[in-house]
Amino acid sequence: MDGSKVNNQSVTEEMLTEQGYRKYLGEDLDIYYNKDVCVHIGNCVRGNPNVFEVGRRPWIIADNGSIEEDIQVINTCPSGALKYIRKDGK
Ligand code: SF4
Repeated sequence: MDGSKVNNQSVTEEMLTEQGYRKYLGEDLDIYYNKDVCVHIGNCVRGNPNVFEVGRRPWIIADNGSIEEDIQVINTCPSGALKYIRKDGK
C-alpha cells in the first residue's frame, strides 16, 4: 500500500488529521498513524524496531530511520493505518 496516498490521492496533513491520524514529527518526513485503522499485524515493528516500538513514548520516532527505510516499512502496512508526508520536496 502506498503510504503517501489515500484513494490514489496524495495525502495532506488536513486530510489525515480529519480522518483521525496522529502526527509523529520527523526532520524530513512526518509519519501519521491511526489507531482505529490499525489491525495489529506488526509489520511496522518487525520492519524497523528503532522507528516503531510499542511501549515506548512516542512509539514512532521517524528520525530513527532514513526516509527510504521509513517509507519502505510504512508501505508494508496492510491496513493503511500508517501514512507519511515527505518534507524534503521529493
Ligand atoms: S503495520 Fe500497520 S496495521 Fe500493522 S501494526 Fe503496524 S500500523 Fe498497525
